[in-house]
Amino acid sequence: MTDTRDSSLDLTVPREADVVIVGGGPVGSALAIELALRGIRPVIVERRNRIQTENVRARNTSIRTLETCRKWGIADRFRAARTLPREWHTGMIVRNRIDGWDLCPPIFGGRPIWTPFAEWSEIGAEAPEDLPQYVLNRVFRERAEELGADLRRGFEVEELAQDGDGVDLTVRSVADDSTHRIRAKYVVGCDGGRSVVRRSVGIEQIETEPVGRLINFVFEFPNAWEQLGVDPGVLIFVLNGETSGLITPYDGDRWRVGIGPVPVDLDLSGYDLIAETKKFIGKDVDIEAVSFTTHLIQKRIAETRRKGRVLIAGDAAQAFPPHLGQNLNTGVGDAVSLGWMLAGVLNGWAPEGLLDVYSEERIGISHMLADASLAIDAGSTEVWRELASDPNLEEDTPEGALARERVGQGINDVMGTGADGLVYDHRFTESPVVIGDGESGPAFDPLRYQPSSVPGHRAPNVWLSDDLEHPLIDLFGLDFTLISQGDPAEAARFAEAARAEGIPLEVVEIADERVRDLYPRDLTLIRPDRIVAWRADRVPADPKELISRIRSAGSDQLVAA
Ligand SMILES: Cc1cc2nc3c(=O)[nH]c(=O)nc-3n(C[C@H](O)[C@H](O)[C@H](O)COP(=O)(O)OP(=O)(O)OC[C@H]3O[C@@H](n4cnc5c(N)ncnc54)[C@H](O)[C@@H]3O)c2cc1C
Repeated sequence: MTDTRDSSLDLTVPREADVVIVGGGPVGSALAIELALRGIRPVIVERRNRIQTENVRARNTSIRTLETCRKWGIADRFRAARTLPREWHTGMIVRNRIDGWDLCPPIFGGRPIWTPFAEWSEIGAEAPEDLPQYVLNRVFRERAEELGADLRRGFEVEELAQDGDGVDLTVRSVADDSTHRIRAKYVVGCDGGRSVVRRSVGIEQIETEPVGRLINFVFEFPNAWEQLGVDPGVLIFVLNGETSGLITPYDGDRWRVGIGPVPVDLDLSGYDLIAETKKFIGKDVDIEAVSFTTHLIQKRIAETRRKGRVLIAGDAAQAFPPHLGQNLNTGVGDAVSLGWMLAGVLNGWAPEGLLDVYSEERIGISHMLADASLAIDAGSTEVWRELASDPNLEEDTPEGALARERVGQGINDVMGTGADGLVYDHRFTESPVVIGDGESGPAFDPLRYQPSSVPGHRAPNVWLSDDLEHPLIDLFGLDFTLISQGDPAEAARFAEAARAEGIPLEVVEIADERVRDLYPRDLTLIRPDRIVAWRADRVPADPKELISRIRSAGSDQLVAA
């Protein structure tokens, strides 16, 4: 589906580009920012004339995505775009119906919603945020264009063909149906789940059988809080004998409810979404349908993310249930990873083999999150069914009060544990561009994030002041960063070797016990995507060999000087 004409649209496309990003959604825009910051001006080809607001998908923006916004200089702008009052954004309310009983105190009450189990400041330098995806997309796109990305709206990529030197894209204008050609050195498909790019180059997906379907229903609920007579909040989990799931306001009078899982083959033509929604609300209120979408509960993961000069990222490369709220955040992680690697290839200091590293590293994350999301879906559906079967749950009797206490405890047991390890403890210890030092770091725990500077781990933040104003990550450069806590001559030797190989590097000399606790080696090398690449107390005799390992899988030659 395309949108109506817009007279401000540029009806041309450039004939050549270093990088064409197909799709100006959140992930395409994020990748454009990462490239533009490194001097590459990508062309974004986006088929829609405007960002759709009729439907909202992601809202949960993670600590890591916000840290990325901080690096891009837009964290404050991002928060200022919030659509609902700040004071509504705490804890998760748990009720039998919105206008019914609290089954337990708000989960993670008093803390920012989407908060992990630990305090956000123990995990990173920015609190998580709740923002409708279309607002996030607008903020990202604005930043990409400010930095020089060339966004062409109203053009649909129809097919592509590659040879050894580049990729030819066939692009159709949705305004006048004219067809255009663009020749690019590299193409990245950030074109969502049905990715034309992925299909054009024949990348297969590993798929599991769908186990159900989720319905995402958006509706207008004018004067909701007056109609309901309860205090406002952003995140409300409802469980009763008829239904269960999240029902949430997200922008003005707009609300969304997640209904299901329903059977994969359920005939939706006779399905009354308004009546289903009222089972969450608990009384007969005025609501009006805006839109609905459905998605299958399954995992679909691309078997590779690179075919020659064509790459994929975001939903084009992975799909899994949104139970952890990490699909978009993972796509932003893809963009952060691919951004520096592709820029390294184009800027002439990294071989093309580095793009295979992007593929390998990110596929591992996709499978881990997809499997965890499917397990959460299976486990929680079972638990909710069992808890909701208590016949006294909605009775105004002492037995009812006891039932609600038991059910509330059951919900809290499932939801109050967090998934900080799954969301924040991503490790690339087996990566060919990570050089281990023999230590393995703390054992992985899906529930807890464990900061560690063992190579392959996310470079942990350290607060350099007690007021939570000065995080260590602010000292990291855009590209490689060497944290030096020992003899400056050693760091200088490494920096000189990096310079000779064209590797962009900043050295941060620091003497601070808080940093030393988490970064016990004199030298810690941090990649542009803030993964620890190597650490030691001394630079090896021949640093050139070390540098050649951290910039490539060693497969291909440098592309350009
Ligand atoms: C109900 C629901 C709730 C969710 N909640 C969360 C959450 O809380 N947190 C989270 O992290 N994730 C969540 N997600 C997932 C999130 O919405 C996606 O991961 C995210 O949209 C992926 O972004 P993307 O840029 O890869 O793809 P998309 O957002 O799909 O963007 C793709 C873009 O490519 C364009 N395009 C497509 N084909 C072409 C073509 N041929 N030519 C030109 N342009 C093209 C499209 O118009 C679009 O703009 C949720 C998803 C759903 C369905």
